[in-house]
Amino acid sequence: MMKVLIVGGGIAGLTLADCLLRSGHAVTIVEKASELRTEGYMIDFFGPGYEAAEKMGLLYELEKIHYPVESLKFLSPNGKEKSSIPYQSLRNMLQNRHYNFMRGDLERLLYNRIKEHVDFRLGTTVQSITQSSEHVNATLSDGSSLPCDLLAGADGIHSKVRSLIFGNDPSPLHFLGYNTAAFVLEEQKIEKKYRHSFNMLIRPNRQVSVYPISEGRLATFFMYKSPQLEKPVTREAIARELRSHYGDLGWIIPELLDAVETASDLYFDEVSQVQMPEWTRGRVTLIGDACQAVSLIAGQGASMAMAGAWVLSREIEKEPDLSTALQQYERLMRPAIADIQQSGRRYAKWFAPENHITLWIREIGMRLALTPPFNRFVNLNRAKLPE
Ligand SMILES: Cc1cc2nc3c(=O)[nH]c(=O)nc-3n(C[C@H](O)[C@H](O)[C@H](O)COP(=O)(O)OP(=O)(O)OC[C@H]3O[C@@H](n4cnc5c(N)ncnc54)[C@H](O)[C@@H]3O)c2cc1C
Repeated sequence: MMKVLIVGGGIAGLTLADCLLRSGHAVTIVEKASELRTEGYMIDFFGPGYEAAEKMGLLYELEKIHYPVESLKFLSPNGKEKSSIPYQSLRNMLQNRHYNFMRGDLERLLYNRIKEHVDFRLGTTVQSITQSSEHVNATLSDGSSLPCDLLAGADGIHSKVRSLIFGNDPSPLHFLGYNTAAFVLEEQKIEKKYRHSFNMLIRPNRQVSVYPISEGRLATFFMYKSPQLEKPVTREAIARELRSHYGDLGWIIPELLDAVETASDLYFDEVSQVQMPEWTRGRVTLIGDACQAVSLIAGQGASMAMAGAWVLSREIEKEPDLSTALQQYERLMRPAIADIQQSGRRYAKWFAPENHITLWIREIGMRLALTPPFNRFVNLNRAKLPE
């Protein structure tokens, strides 16, 4: 039995905790946020993470948090529907092994599975890490010190564990040229009008999507081309930034921009990938976005975070020597991550095309990609959970 400290209670951290607890290890999680996330943004979940969820016996619970989306609608600047694709065509390509859910719903589901058995410390982070060949010791922000056998950094794209262990020079972040924001707002009238569809307005260099998530509640997703922003970014600065990129648009955009300052679960970040020559040093390893972020452009970040955590726990269970287990985990995960990252970089310029011609090509391409017989050429399901 090992004592494991997981830094970060997101999808990767909670999945790893769940798997390790089932093999009898003692787990502490430190999570910087002072409370669990409520909703966040919608995740398309398929591929290796789906397979891992199946092995963890999670599919029945995922079905319960799944949001049925009937169609993907492309809108003109005044909000009129230009074209639409039945969402089922996407799900067909994935043999229906796919869910849509809010990131917060998945995290809560995972948290509820482990909360009785884990030492979960909200509002806490790690300040420093020292290690020997026998142990690793973390000093936490509450002043306590925590000795353990393994420390897993599951603290996302701006990982503190990563910077403490590997430094930031050169930066592992590869910026893809976009920033993104997402939040949820209460809006009865708009929600009714756009119920059951994922509605996208794409203009040169920017796009915005809205999708109702429950009665009177609407989730938003903004993504626009822009230089990398200095961090941290305040809520007021996010509101200003979004206004400067979207303030000239009509439809419901003015209402959305007005909501930024009060909206719940405001998410804002650069769109970047994380590429690292090594994920492990001694008894400290990284999982999820901390070492393998593929970006929302590539999709599958949540799926790969869950898959990576599951593979790591399986290798720990199979292999008595920790160092060998950590090497195996990295060796098995890297090829799929490299593949997804490469397709993300390739697709980046098409996400919010630069002009009306490339925008038009993108829309036609997207419709064709989901229509037989062309959908045979789009292999969304290429990555597999490593054996
Ligand atoms: C708008 C958007 C849409 C997306 N859509 C999809 C999609 O459709 N499909 C998909 O598969 N993926 C999608 N993703 C990607 C997916 O959300 C991420 O890949 C996934 O959340 C990574 O999980 P993680 O646990 O590794 O990191 P995170 O989810 O970032 O979790 C990290 C956790 O660590 C905590 N933390 C951070 N720093 C510290 C610290 N110093 N100390 C302690 N705790 C800390 C954070 O609060 C957080 O709880 C999307 C991402 C975005 C932004």
